[in-house]
Amino acid sequence: MDSLLARQLRKHLPSADPASPQWQGFLRAIENAYIELRQDRDFIEHTLETTSKELTEANEKLRSEAESKIASLSRYYQQTLELQQGMIQCVRLTPRGFEHTLCRGQLLQRLGLTADQVEGRRIEELAPPAHAARINSAYARAWAGEEFSTTYASTNGLELFVLLRPRRENGEVCEIIVSSVEITALKEAERSLIAAKEHAEAADRAKSEFLAVMSHEIRTPLNAVLGFSDLLLTTTSLNAQQITWLSSICTSSEALLALINDILDFSKIEAGRFDLHPEPVHLLPLLNEVTDMFAPKAAEKHLTFTLETTPDLPDTIVIDRLRLRQVLVNLIGNAVKFTTQGSVMVKVTLAPGIPASPTSGALAIAISDTGIGITESQRDRLFKPFSQVDSSTTRNYGGTGLGLAISDRIVRMLGGQINLESIPEKGSTFSFTVNGEFICAQPAPVRTLAADNAPVEPPVITPQTLRILIAEDHPINREFISLILESRGYQPDLAENGRLALEAALRQPYDLVLMDLQMPVMDGFQATREILSQQSGTRPPAIYALTANVYPEDRQRATEAGMLGFLAKPVNTQELFTVIDKITKLKQTG
Ligand code: ADP
Repeated sequence: MDSLLARQLRKHLPSADPASPQWQGFLRAIENAYIELRQDRDFIEHTLETTSKELTEANEKLRSEAESKIASLSRYYQQTLELQQGMIQCVRLTPRGFEHTLCRGQLLQRLGLTADQVEGRRIEELAPPAHAARINSAYARAWAGEEFSTTYASTNGLELFVLLRPRRENGEVCEIIVSSVEITALKEAERSLIAAKEHAEAADRAKSEFLAVMSHEIRTPLNAVLGFSDLLLTTTSLNAQQITWLSSICTSSEALLALINDILDFSKIEAGRFDLHPEPVHLLPLLNEVTDMFAPKAAEKHLTFTLETTPDLPDTIVIDRLRLRQVLVNLIGNAVKFTTQGSVMVKVTLAPGIPASPTSGALAIAISDTGIGITESQRDRLFKPFSQVDSSTTRNYGGTGLGLAISDRIVRMLGGQINLESIPEKGSTFSFTVNGEFICAQPAPVRTLAADNAPVEPPVITPQTLRILIAEDHPINREFISLILESRGYQPDLAENGRLALEAALRQPYDLVLMDLQMPVMDGFQATREILSQQSGTRPPAIYALTANVYPEDRQRATEAGMLGFLAKPVNTQELFTVIDKITKLKQTG
C-alpha cells in the first residue's frame, strides 16, 4: 500500500521529496484515512450482511406465516363448504360445455357423489340424459344473466331447492354459483298437508252430500206438510180453531224450512260449493217484491216502512237474483224484527266513489231502522255463524244467528262488503254495495207478422189442452203436485219412475214434463236424455227438473241432459205456475 501511494504521489508530484517530513506526514494522513475507510467499508459490509440476513429471515417468516394463514383460511373455507348441509357448485362455460369447477357440501354424499367425481366434469358425465338436458338448460339461463330458483328431483329420490346466480367480472358473467338445499322432508310434509287438505275437503264434500241428502229427506215430508196444509186452508171450509191450528202448522213448517235452507247455505259456503248464477234482474220489481214481503209485518208493528230509490239507477242489473234477494230479506227482516217503534227505511242509490258507466257499476243499499241497536262489543260476534248478540235474542225474537254470516259471505262474493253503523237503543244501519253489469231499458220487441201481413191468431190454450206429465217416485209428492195442478184445471199424467215417464212420453207428446231427478229403475237425467233423443218428428216437451237437490252440479247435469229449468222442492206453487204460464205462452206463439 505504501509503495502504491508513494508511486502515485511521485507520478502526480514529481518535484516533491518523498523523504521530506511533509511528505511523510502527508502519506501517514492518507494512510490513516484509508485505514478508516477500510474499517468503515468492513463495518458497512458487515451491517449489510447482517441486515440482509435479517431481512431474508423476516421475509421467510412472513412468507411462511402468510402461507400458513392462506392454508388455514383455505382449510376453513373448504371445511365450511364441505360441512354445509346443502351443496355449492361453481360452473363455468368451457369449449366442452358447462363444467363444474368446484363442488362441495354434505348433500354431495346424499346424492351418492364425491367432489372429485363432480369437479372438472360436465353434467352429462354424471346424470342421465333427460336430467342432464334439464340442468344444462338451467345453466344456460343463468349464464345468460338470470338469477332464479328451481326444484330438482334426483335419480335417487332426493328433492332439491336450487338457486342459480351468475357471478360477473367486469360486467361479464364469468361463473355460475349454484346453491342447493335438500327439501325432501319439506316436500313430503307439503304432500301430506295437501293430502290432509284433500282428505278434509273430501270430508267436507261428504258432509255437504250428507246435508244435501238430509235436506232432501227433510224437505220431502215438509213439502207434503206445507202443501197439504196450504190446500186444506185454501180449498176446504174450516172453523176458526182449525184455521188457527193449520196456520200454525204452516208457520212452523216454513220456519223449519228456512232453518234447513240456512244450514244448507252456510255449509255450502263453508265447503266452497256456493256458486253464483248471475242473470238480468229488474231492480225495482225485485226491491218491491222484497219490501212487499215485510210490509204486513211492519204495518202490524205500526212502523213507517219506506223504500227510497234514486232516478239514476239502472233498470236491470246482471246479478245472482236469488242471492241478492236473500241478503235483502235477511237485512230487512232483521230491521223489522228488531224494531218495535219508529221506522225501517230501505235506500238504494248508485255507489258513491265507484264510477258507473252505462254498462257497469255498483249499487249502494242501506237498511236503516230505529230498533234496539247493537253495542260496540256485540259487533265482533255479529257476522260469525250461530251467534246472536245475546242469548235472550233467540227467546225474544227467534232466528238461528246464521243470517248475517251468510249475508256477509254472499255480499263479499257479489264484490262488496257489509258495513254497520249502530247506536244502542237508537237504531242500526246495515249498508252494502254490490257490483254488476247494468242494462238500460230496451224498446219493446216489434211484433212479427205473417208473410201475408195478416196477424196470426194464437191458438187458445186451456188447462185441458196443455199436456203435463209428472215423473216422481214419491207418492205423496206425486199426489200433491197433481192436486195443485188439478186445482187450476190441469189434468196431469203420472209416472212413478223414469222408465214409465219415457214410455208415456213415447205414447203421446207432452208440452211439459216435471221430472224428479232421483228415481228408481231410471233416473230423471237418463229419462230426459231418452225422451229427447227418441221423440223425433214432434216438438219435444219442455222438461223441468223437480228436485230437492239444489246443488250447482245437479243444475249442470240437468242442463246437460236437456232440461230447460229447475223447480226446487218443496214446490213453490207460484214458481210452478210461472213455468206453466211460460210453456202456455210458448205454445200459443207456436
Ligand atoms: P238471526 O237469524 O238470529 O236474526 P242474524 O245473523 O241475522 O241471525 O243476526 C244475528 C244477530 O244480530 C241477531 O240475533 C241480533 O242479535 C243482531 N241483529 C241483526 N240485525 C239487527 C238489527 N237490525 N238491529 C239489532 N240487532 C240486530
